[in-house]
Amino acid sequence: MLLREITQLPQNPTPLTFSEIPEPALDAGEVLLRVTACGVCHTELDEIEGRTPPPRLPVVLGHQVVGILESDSLLSKPHEQAHGCQSDGLPSKPQRQAAGLQSGQRVGVAWIASACGECNFCKSGLENLCPQFKATGRDVDGGYAEYMKVRADFVHPIPDSFSDAEAAPLLCAGAIGYRSLRLSNLQDGQSLGLTGFGGSNHLVLKLAKHVFPNAKIFVFSRNPKEREFALSLGAAWAGGIDQSPLGELDSVIDTTPVWGAVSEALKRVRPGGRVVINVIRKEESDKSILNQLDYPSQLWMEKEIKSVTNVTCADVREFLQVAAEADIKPEFQEYDLKDANQALLEMKQGKIHGSKVLRV
Ligand SMILES: [Zn+2]
Ligand SMILES: [Zn+2]
Repeated sequence: MLLREITQLPQNPTPLTFSEIPEPALDAGEVLLRVTACGVCHTELDEIEGRTPPPRLPVVLGHQVVGILESDSLLSKPHEQAHGCQSDGLPSKPQRQAAGLQSGQRVGVAWIASACGECNFCKSGLENLCPQFKATGRDVDGGYAEYMKVRADFVHPIPDSFSDAEAAPLLCAGAIGYRSLRLSNLQDGQSLGLTGFGGSNHLVLKLAKHVFPNAKIFVFSRNPKEREFALSLGAAWAGGIDQSPLGELDSVIDTTPVWGAVSEALKRVRPGGRVVINVIRKEESDKSILNQLDYPSQLWMEKEIKSVTNVTCADVREFLQVAAEADIKPEFQEYDLKDANQALLEMKQGKIHGSKVLRV
């Protein structure tokens, strides 16, 4: 499914075209994946609509990819400048990692397609901030396809307990949710607000309930069905984005495309509390609300705003591990690959229940 031009939904309901393209030619250090499932992420809308445009077109979108390693590709030479993921705290050895991969093995690919491995960010485990960060399905072709190529040192083994479709949303929605929860500074027994309740925050709720069993979780969503869904997963309260639960929140994780949600969240966090914005781009439509920010009630008292940017390999691998241990599985709807446009359109229109996964 190729994106050929920047366009707007829903005016153009079919931004992607079902196309026949050659199997990817491998460079050194890359392996070939036969894709079996790919999650659909709100970031794809940001790419299609030009808020985080791909540097070249056409491009294959998709960065929550599950697939099987094709045998021949494992013979390709290691990447000359490969430094790989640093998830074990040791300088990683791409040759070793690539050699450890088995033909027929099931692996996942996340938003992080590669990073330089040499800058101070990469060396300190913050490869998500690397100036040479490359994103799957934006800077390189992704998983809305039958085959994709990927750096051997940036694939992640998938625990056996997940089906392909269950694993796909864990690779972005889950992994970045994991990073958001970590950056929220939440402690057990505290109160967490979640604004927006789509692919990522429903996994954050499940994760937070596992890691912080005494935390109280408050869900803010415009959609009554999502509020019901949140309560069924154990939220202490669910209401509209402009409604107030009793008491102040210790932290809030915002996954909405609008600024109004940030403004409301800043009213609700306690002194010293933190609002974590887990989106790659905000839409411009209600940006003027920022001019009405009230410094004394919304920012003073050491309230903080922190954005979440990309993911590290450690985020992906640690989250997959925790999710397997805690049996955290996404709620998802499946679509055929060729129906990707329909999945994207429904996401744009807010018809979201959990995650969306393309079956390839
Ligand atoms: Zn994503
Ligand atoms: Zn770097």
